[in-house]
Amino acid sequence: MSQADTLVIGGGLIGVLTACELAIRGARVTVLEKDDVGFEQSSRSVGAINLPGGTPNPEVSLLRASAELWEAFQDRWGHDIGLNRDGWNIVIANDRDHEWLETERATWHATAGYPECELLDAETARERFPQLEGDLIALDARHGGHVDAVQVMDSIRLTAERLGVDVRCGEMATGFDLQGDCVTAVRTRSGRFTPGNVVVAAGLWSPELARQLGLHIPMQRVRAPAVETEPMPPGTIPGFLRASTFGAKQSHDGSIRITGGYRFSAMLHDLSLRDVRDLRIWAPAFWQNRKDVSLRLDIASLRHEMSAKAATIRAHNGDIVVPRGQEPRSHPRDRRNQLAGLARLIPAISQAKIRRSFSGVMDVIPDLQPVIGRFPDVSNAFLATGFSGHGYMCGPGACQAVAETITEGHTEIALHDYQPERLKEHLKMRDQIF
Ligand SMILES: Cc1cc2nc3c(=O)[nH]c(=O)nc-3n(C[C@H](O)[C@H](O)[C@H](O)COP(=O)(O)OP(=O)(O)OC[C@H]3O[C@@H](n4cnc5c(N)ncnc54)[C@H](O)[C@@H]3O)c2cc1C
Repeated sequence: MSQADTLVIGGGLIGVLTACELAIRGARVTVLEKDDVGFEQSSRSVGAINLPGGTPNPEVSLLRASAELWEAFQDRWGHDIGLNRDGWNIVIANDRDHEWLETERATWHATAGYPECELLDAETARERFPQLEGDLIALDARHGGHVDAVQVMDSIRLTAERLGVDVRCGEMATGFDLQGDCVTAVRTRSGRFTPGNVVVAAGLWSPELARQLGLHIPMQRVRAPAVETEPMPPGTIPGFLRASTFGAKQSHDGSIRITGGYRFSAMLHDLSLRDVRDLRIWAPAFWQNRKDVSLRLDIASLRHEMSAKAATIRAHNGDIVVPRGQEPRSHPRDRRNQLAGLARLIPAISQAKIRRSFSGVMDVIPDLQPVIGRFPDVSNAFLATGFSGHGYMCGPGACQAVAETITEGHTEIALHDYQPERLKEHLKMRDQIF
């Protein structure tokens, strides 16, 4: 059906940006997307990112490469992505927050590309950001900011078009033909594609595809409720503002996007068929984070999953079917605490009108690290998935690394912590979820 050099499964940030990185290196690329570009996680994101500033981490880490690529993004690809460089400002309101910060700083120093932090006392913080009227004892300021997820997805869709990438929306990959250790075709409902290489960047549904290539990915789906306000005056929110009960940022159009906080993330875990299989891996992690993650039984998403499973069984040839057009449930009570917390710190927010409330479902791996690299037992198939709520933070570096590995056989970007092989071992959960 198509003779693309590389076929990418998944039209989210990771799939489409990898396709652009491949195309700019001269490859012919096709992207298969079962819904529309960015429909699942990528357009729902807050888009908080690390940016260059201060002394970089010496290793060319995924986060360092990504920070530099975000800084260069608008010039390189020629589109406005609503880049905000006003930093990450982490609100410390009590001793428990302070304890959290100490543990979190250790991870940040080890992983962030540009890890310098400045701890401001309350007085200095209020001088710098007079809008912070509520309780705080300190503010941790870091290099970073945010991008507009919808603008990013529009921008890479247009870039892919300009570079000649064939993006096929409404096309679901259902299986693979294999000969020895090589994928010879990717099956879809309408036919077969015969690319030289395959990249699985299918977010929440990568495990279904990876299983067909001999790899079990113990991924869980975690629902993050979010809310967006009508435009507020510029400067209402400084940079990406994180607190224990909320995370918030203001877009260029003035609207404010709010999600869960660092100690109370309001994450909801919808029980799914996967939980049964991976219970042994996940039970200790759930127990450790029991105050933060609520287990829910969402009948609608379970029904979606069951009917997809039944269609997979009916297909006989091993072809999978995954849910399409699924809108994750969103209930106002899931956001009450986030809004109330933000309004206590910045009273002007209590006047804000909500224009949209929604949820996004994240693809979470037990050690909270993405899975990037060649499939262990397949010579021409690659994975870039399981970004565990950090796909914007480390996406551009991941996409460049995958494209370089495919076209040049190596990459300078350090991928050792993200290899798919590690999934075969016991994965250790981090002390903090986010
Ligand atoms: C509310 C929310 C807030 C977030 N905030 C941040 C943040 O501040 N900073 C940060 O770094 N990250 C954040 N994230 C995480 C970030 O958005 C994700 O890590 C990132 O978007 C993942 O991109 P992706 O391309 O891997 O996945 P997705 O965007 O989910 O794309 C995968 C695509 O594959 C398609 N697909 C699946 N199966 C098939 C198939 N068989 N055939 C064809 N297509 C298929 C899907 O339809 C989907 O469009 C947030 C996420 C959410 C939900």
